[in-house]
Amino acid sequence: QIKTRKSSGLCFFDPQMQVEIHQRVRMEEDLRVAMAQSQFELHYQPQFTLAGEVIGAEALLRWRHPERGLVPPGMFIAVAEESEIIVPLGMWVLRTACEQLARWQKDARLSQLQVSVNVSARQFRHKDFATRVVEVLRETGISPQRLKLELTESVVIENVEQAIATMKQLRALGLCFSMDDFGTGQSSLTYLTRLPLSQLKIDQSFIRNMGHRHTDDVIVQTIIGMARNLNLEVIAEGVETQEQRAMLASYGCAYFQGYLFSPPVPLHAFEQLLARVPVRMEPPGV
Ligand code: C2E
Ligand code: MG
Ligand code: MG
Ligand code: MG
Repeated sequence: QIKTRKSSGLCFFDPQMQVEIHQRVRMEEDLRVAMAQSQFELHYQPQFTLAGEVIGAEALLRWRHPERGLVPPGMFIAVAEESEIIVPLGMWVLRTACEQLARWQKDARLSQLQVSVNVSARQFRHKDFATRVVEVLRETGISPQRLKLELTESVVIENVEQAIATMKQLRALGLCFSMDDFGTGQSSLTYLTRLPLSQLKIDQSFIRNMGHRHTDDVIVQTIIGMARNLNLEVIAEGVETQEQRAMLASYGCAYFQGYLFSPPVPLHAFEQLLARVPVRMEPPGV
């Protein structure tokens, strides 16, 4: 009888599921090995002003796998989050970015560069997060204004009060917060205004269809207008064409990131880029 078969728990032995569980466990093991063997690296994607000056970069995690080559975060971040490996891995990202900022800080021309670091929900909600960030700041000696933490709406939404408290604690030290993938989450505008944010980052899905889908043009204009009224910086991510750049500029977008300018690149390539483009030397606003 179909009914009893369905409720008999047969799916527990679903071979497809077995394979998935097995792969997941293997991936977790691989991630631990990768941490121990320093297989992770940061790539940097530059961020530009309208005038074409570099203001800094977003640090993006890559896994240099001995057999599989360069693995993008989409392939492993979810497993790292579910297994809590994201906590030490995320701290490695933060520390590495801060060590790099400390090196740039010694070079007058590069001393105002900012680096944005992505912080995942698990990592941000960990009870020691703020304490560990403070430790890294102290150990690397960077000025906190150089460091921007990118959160997504889902990070904040689960426990708004706690998120605000953690953000305020770090904001008081001078750190900045950016709302990544802005416009794609379920956040209400009411609490959004309560968060101590410095920047909204317009999600690339809206940028992609600009000029082709009227609603996306409206959304982008609305986000830019809202950012201006709330006195927040606004940056567009995933800018791929001159048309998109021009439209964003006409709407009043101040900062740009995307393949039109540069993909994320390894450190040495980013430093080569810094050597040939203008670099903003004024301290960041907001
Ligand atoms: P994200 O933070 O929204 O990063 C932007 C993603 O868009 C990056 O993908 C970047 O390479 C890609 N991108 C940049 N410009 C363009 C463009 O013009 N067109 C298109 N189509 N894509 C563009 P990536 O590096 O694969 O990272 C994917 C996501 O993985 C990130 O999204 C972020 O959520 C997560 N991630 C990356 N590094 C870290 C990390 O260190 N920690 C955590 N927790 N998450 C990370
Ligand atoms: Mg990001
Ligand atoms: Mg994003
Ligand atoms: Mg994203």
